[in-house]
Amino acid sequence: MALADLLLSDDDFVPTKALLVVAHPDDIDFGAAGTAATLTDHGVEVVYGLVTSGQAGEPAELSPAELTEIRQKEQTEAAAIVGVTELHWLGFPDGHLVADLELRKAIARLIRMVKPDLVITQTPVRDLDRIYAAHPDHLAAGEAAVCAVYPDARNGHSFPELLAEGHLPHAVPRVWLMAGADNDLHVDITANLDRKIEALRAHHSQNDDRADALPSMIRDWAQTNARAAGHTGRAVESFRVVHTE
Ligand SMILES: [Zn+2]
Repeated sequence: MALADLLLSDDDFVPTKALLVVAHPDDIDFGAAGTAATLTDHGVEVVYGLVTSGQAGEPAELSPAELTEIRQKEQTEAAAIVGVTELHWLGFPDGHLVADLELRKAIARLIRMVKPDLVITQTPVRDLDRIYAAHPDHLAAGEAAVCAVYPDARNGHSFPELLAEGHLPHAVPRVWLMAGADNDLHVDITANLDRKIEALRAHHSQNDDRADALPSMIRDWAQTNARAAGHTGRAVESFRVVHTE
């Protein structure tokens, strides 16, 4: 099936290069690994930008340095499962993210380096009914990424030091927001649901204690999302499209 037929929405945009920006290792795999797999299957280049290395995750007895090493390795394995080999670690502190100018500059630099036509990131809007999805780091990463798309990455006057580093302005025409409300794009991941589950299982440090429950939980989510969007019988990941051209 053509990629356009798997992007269920009114928007006829089909990306050629996507940059995914999230707060923590495993955020991509919960929200968008099926989409990443679907994109790479169809020849779209996909690059990951991880704002933190998940060094405030489980298990609590490990040091931040040990967790950084483990979680970067797990995310790298999870990425390979869905066809992604380019990962950028921005090195911000897990649990302390703020959508400040430093974070915006780091993401704008990454956008100018990668030059995507699509950024997929976390919604900056807090949903009080989904408090885990609305982790403050997620909201900060999403807010900073949207600011980096517009205006920072495209405006030569934003962060002149990026120009001095040789990173020329770059305009991204679309953002897809995950884990939010008002979703109007449903990516059909039916053929990639098993790879999404496999990618999530690669995060052993976070998910081994619920490994048995994970597959049915993920299938349920994807099928419930599909039903809610009028695509009963399929599995989807849903996004809110933001037009940024
Ligand atoms: Zn997270």
